[in-house]
Amino acid sequence: TLSAAAVSVTPSNDTSASEDEKEVSKEDQSLLQKLLRSKLVQAKTDIEILRKDPNSPLHSVKSFEALKLKPELLKGVYAMGFNAPSKIQETALPALLAEPPVNMIAQSQSGTGKTAAFVLTMLSRVDISQNYPQCLCLAPTYELALQIGEVTEKMAKFMEDLKIRYAVRGGERVTRDEQLTEHIIIGTPGTVMDWGLKLRAIRLEKIKVFVLDEADVMISMQGHQDQSTRIQKKLSSSCQMLLFSATYDQTVMQFAQKIIPGDPVIIRLRREEESLDNIKQYYIECNSKEEKFQALCNIYGTISIGQAMIFCHTKKTASWLAEKMTAEHHTVGLLSGELTIEQRAAIIKRFRDGKEKVLITTNVSARGIDVEMVTVVVNFDLPVTLDYKPDCETYLHRIGRTGRFGKSGLAVNMVDGPRSMAILKAIEKHFGRKIERLDADDLDEIE
Ligand code: ADP
Repeated sequence: TLSAAAVSVTPSNDTSASEDEKEVSKEDQSLLQKLLRSKLVQAKTDIEILRKDPNSPLHSVKSFEALKLKPELLKGVYAMGFNAPSKIQETALPALLAEPPVNMIAQSQSGTGKTAAFVLTMLSRVDISQNYPQCLCLAPTYELALQIGEVTEKMAKFMEDLKIRYAVRGGERVTRDEQLTEHIIIGTPGTVMDWGLKLRAIRLEKIKVFVLDEADVMISMQGHQDQSTRIQKKLSSSCQMLLFSATYDQTVMQFAQKIIPGDPVIIRLRREEESLDNIKQYYIECNSKEEKFQALCNIYGTISIGQAMIFCHTKKTASWLAEKMTAEHHTVGLLSGELTIEQRAAIIKRFRDGKEKVLITTNVSARGIDVEMVTVVVNFDLPVTLDYKPDCETYLHRIGRTGRFGKSGLAVNMVDGPRSMAILKAIEKHFGRKIERLDADDLDEIE
């Protein structure tokens, strides 16, 4: 039988994507998601509690009042427009705020309310009358630390004397013998280690709440795991230790269990599975890039397309296609690897706001972004891994939809020659769903 992994093709004469574009790092993907995030991702799946102390059963809350927060903190939460706790917050917050404090490992996809949950915990436990660092939050990068700081500042809007300090490279320096007086420190592992272990400007043993955010990104970065562990070792045994991650796999969990001692509560919110139900999948056979473009024009001439995302393998093809489509009077956005994160976020935002009808992107630059409202996806080139194997996971992520967006969708795959046909067949077999053939010159079959 033909399994997806068994099919491998060699690159065509087009530049290979691996040379063409740099892989987007996990920390950049994470930042991009944060920059794009406008609201809470509503989760449909149920919380799983993987381990808990049977003596302290977890309960959940349906309102922020039920948490008995300091009035100025509750006011801050409401001022952010939060009416009720998110799915993960319902279960996490009562445990996070419990006395005596419990340690926690929590996993849920980006956008489900983790940051808000731990920021609330830090603000709830901090004693503003005491001018020394009481809460410490580690993030993978400077930019991600700033994002957390922004949330903290917003939520602490009515906690007037609260002070935050960023422990990041390139930030404000600490001099020898200086003792920090800010209440909350948010920083990257390297700088926090310098300030805490070397300069002793932060008395780590006096920290009451320790948060390690984006553990999955953290472990992908050189040295961060080690540095975080060294910091954690200096904390007192009464410090509340919390770890958050967007993904849940063995390496993250091993690290989590190592760095969060005791018998932490582990909560997990599974991502809703994407599926190809309700998606019409087609393929069109072409002989060249030009023919693919012609087929695309025919599709536009045949059906009315709201917004479409078009995936190309290389940035050369992507910009070629963008030019051709622009010449045909389509409003096109082009995402490619050389853009900065901010530029990418701006382009995606424009597309999301409907300012552009077409978003053309390379495989690499599309990684980590969700544009779920798109109903038409065109694989101008089929998704392949770096070693040119069919990339079924990426295919599903591009085309599949979750129950929330149960709308039907349309996927058109452009096939040019036996190699890409083999990839298409492998994808079809992998999902066990027929990909129907369309005649490029007669698209009446398309729905
Ligand atoms: P995560 O850390 O899991 O990525 P965030 O805490 O950053 O998620 O929350 C994602 C988005 O949802 C943010 O825009 C945040 O302001 C918003 N949000 C968080 N909690 C709530 C809530 N309880 N009600 C409404 N919006 C919320």
